Amino acid sequence: MIKWLTFFSIVVSLLSFVFVPLAGTEMKGQTRVEASPDDPAATDVDRKFIRRAFEIAREAVAKGNRPYGALLVHEGKILAEDSNTVNQTGDITKHAESGLLALATQKYSRDVLSQSTLYASGEPCLMCRGAINWARLSRLVYGSSASQTNKVYGRQSRGIPIKETFERTNPNLMLVGPVLEEEGLKVHVDFTSK
Ligand SMILES: [Zn+2]
Repeated sequence: MIKWLTFFSIVVSLLSFVFVPLAGTEMKGQTRVEASPDDPAATDVDRKFIRRAFEIAREAVAKGNRPYGALLVHEGKILAEDSNTVNQTGDITKHAESGLLALATQKYSRDVLSQSTLYASGEPCLMCRGAINWARLSRLVYGSSASQTNKVYGRQSRGIPIKETFERTNPNLMLVGPVLEEEGLKVHVDFTSK
């Protein structure tokens, strides 16, 4: 009996370790969240494609999904686009970035992927960071940060900072963000006030 109780308490503590950081602490959502300035490494081309990611995010909402969009760009050309389709498909792994990479990695060669940039409307979650690593992309540009986006939803951020994740797991990836965060946060404010 004691053994089972010990086992049970270990399982519970492991689960809370995994789920508590994702769930965050509920607070009241804010419609006025301060946006950070653009990452100095962002270019005008990056801003153009991040705006497209925001458009895809808004299109996702029209299909009943959460407002996230992503696109893959190679030498200035859009190779693929996708949005969050979790509600549409019932598949919790269908975030914008993971869905996009599932399609693109079947279609394009390693060479093309290694010279491509992924644009994401929001800072990718841990699952998508993993997919980005497996796809061996050279560059990732994201719009709004998770910390500020969470404030729109009244959640406290407890995730691992994206810079830290890639410094440890994929230091060769060029990471740029946030970019046009004010516009990116507006997408979420509009979603929550619908
Ligand atoms: Zn994700």
